[in-house]
Order: sequence, then C-alpha cells, then structure tokens
Amino acid sequence: MMKELKGRERSSRIHIGDSLAGMEMCLTSDDIIVITDANIRKLHSHAFPEAEVIDVEPGEGSKNLRTVEHIYEKLLELGADRQSFIVGIGGGIVCDITGFAASTYMRGLRFALVPTTLLAQVDAAIGGKNGVNLRHYKNIVGTINQPDFVLVDMGFLDTLPPREFRNGMAEVIKSAAICSRSLFEYLEDNRENILGLDTESLGRIINDTVDIKLDIVSRDEFETGERRKLNFGHTFGHALEKLLPYSHGEAISIGMMIAAKMSVARGMLGSEDSERLERLIRDYGLPHKAEMDTDSMIDALGKDKKRVGDKVKFVLLNGIGSAEIVEIPLDELKKV
Ligand code: ADP
Ligand code: ZN
Repeated sequence: MMKELKGRERSSRIHIGDSLAGMEMCLTSDDIIVITDANIRKLHSHAFPEAEVIDVEPGEGSKNLRTVEHIYEKLLELGADRQSFIVGIGGGIVCDITGFAASTYMRGLRFALVPTTLLAQVDAAIGGKNGVNLRHYKNIVGTINQPDFVLVDMGFLDTLPPREFRNGMAEVIKSAAICSRSLFEYLEDNRENILGLDTESLGRIINDTVDIKLDIVSRDEFETGERRKLNFGHTFGHALEKLLPYSHGEAISIGMMIAAKMSVARGMLGSEDSERLERLIRDYGLPHKAEMDTDSMIDALGKDKKRVGDKVKFVLLNGIGSAEIVEIPLDELKKV
C-alpha cells in the first residue's frame, strides 16, 4: 500500500507491507549508502541493497553529534556527493540519525528510511522529524525534512525482541487514544493476533497509526498546534525516561495514564474511559504507573522543550479517540 505525505518543501512516499528485497525498484541513484546498526546488519544484511554500509552503535547512547560527525567522515571517505542516496535501515535511533546526517551533509542529500522496529514504523520514520540528543536534552538538535520514501517491511518484526515490540505498541495505543475510537476497539478485540504478529492484524494497526500521524502532520508539519496532540503521554513520559530506566514506550504508557487521570480530574473524561485505557495498556504488557518523587518530576518537566513560561502544554483526553491541548501552570501540576 502506498501513501503520500505532502510536505511544504518535499513530498514523501510511504510504502506499507512492501519488502526490503524489492526496494531496488524505488532507488534512482546507483551510489547508495546504507546507515544501520550492528544488530540489524547481523540479522538482515542479506536483504540490503548493493551499497556501502556505515554502522552506528546500537542504542540511545549513540544518538548524538559524535555519531553524526563519524557519519560525515565516513561519507567524506566514501566520496559521497549530491548524487549519493542515503538509506537508513534500523530502529528509531538509526532513522533519526540518518535523517539528520543526510539532511545536513552538503546541505542535504536525498534519503530514504526503512524502519525495523514497530516504534519506528508507526512513529519515528513518519513525519520528517529527525535529530539527536545533546547532554540530557532529547532531540534538541535536528531538522524537519521528508525522506524520498519510507518502506515499512513488517518482516523485520519477526526478529524484534518482545520488549521492543511492546514499546511500539505504546505509540499505537497513543494514536488510538487521541484520534481513533475504531483502532482503540480493534486493539481491545485483537490482542492475541497482534501479539502473535499476525500479518493482517499488524498491517491494520500500522496502517491506521501511520494514517493518523500523516493526517495530523499534513495539517501541521512544523508543529504549531494540531501536531502537539501526538505528544499525548509524552510530557510526563519524557520526564520519566530521564529519571528512571524506562524505555520510551513504557514511559509514555505511564505518561498517558497520568494525563488520563488529569483529564478525569478536570471533568473532561469519564473514569470508565480512563480505566479502559489502563486495561489496554496492561493488556499489551506495558506499565501504567510508577513510584516516583514529585519534585524531581516537576523539575524535569520545567526543562521540557514544550514549556511556555511557567505553563506546560498538556494533551488531555475528552473521550476515547479524542484529544485536546490544555495549558496548565507548573504549580497546578504539583497538586496532581
Ligand atoms: P526504537 O525504534 O525503539 O527507537 P532503537 O533504534 O533503539 O529503537 O532499536 C532498539 C533495539 O532493537 C536496538 O538494539 C536495535 O539494534 C534493535 N533492533 C531494531 N530493529 C530490530 C529488528 N528488526 N530485529 C532485531 N533487533 C532490532
Ligand atoms: Zn513517542
């Protein structure tokens, strides 16, 4: 299935359910450079296109400017120029770094992304955001630039560790919670098929989640309003990720539950809907609460990029499948 994301600068094609082995057809350059990580290379390089390969270390620890510099140097050594075409094959980390390196080297080379984790397939590779961390600030350096295409090959998910799969499910649940009651119900009713990696079920949830993101991003590519809804669960989630050893999906699951409880407290959401969200999160093996110290949480929230003065913008729910952006003063947060 092919979808199109019309960006202001460039458009991007998104192929869902195609195989990496058939990618050659999408490539118009004969000077292809693959960026990947050592795990993916070991498991899947047999399906890679004919290309030079640049490896980055697996893990969040390599999502920084040193890795980007390493890539620039390799590109120099390989004689990459404006005719070269970069293909990032990997999880969110590889996709974010590849997009940034390709968008800045020689002021921008053409590139494509082949996301290999569920998280990257439904989120990180879609929407054109890329970038790296600096100190403890996540994604604070980067660009918004669409790849030529994104190829979602669900076959990669067969080798993905279960914890990584659950991580991606958190973003799927998030998208359903903010935008799609029907996806939410599908997730409730098809847990076994989805966790069993049934192709049809995976296709359905990836497709719907990508549609939700494309719909929001096409209306708000540069994040001035609507796109913020995608941050449901992320304000608290990012703070939690900094303070405790949670994965992104685990942290936003807890973040979603905090936001849902705030929504209930403000009279926007019925408590039965908040309980439904909690049940879904638990059904997919994700955590719904954390023990933690309020002061360090508020302190971390104060450092959030999305903060405006002493207020933080929160995405709250006013129903299953419906979200609203609300500004809440830091003081009021302490009470919650
Ligand atoms: P995310 O998409 O969650 O940001 P990362 O890029 O950090 O993920 O990848 C998470 C881990 O999973 C990394 O160690 C990566 O090498 C590994 N990984 C990514 N895709 C696959 C896959 N299809 N099969 C096995 N391991 C994978
Ligand atoms: Zn996220």
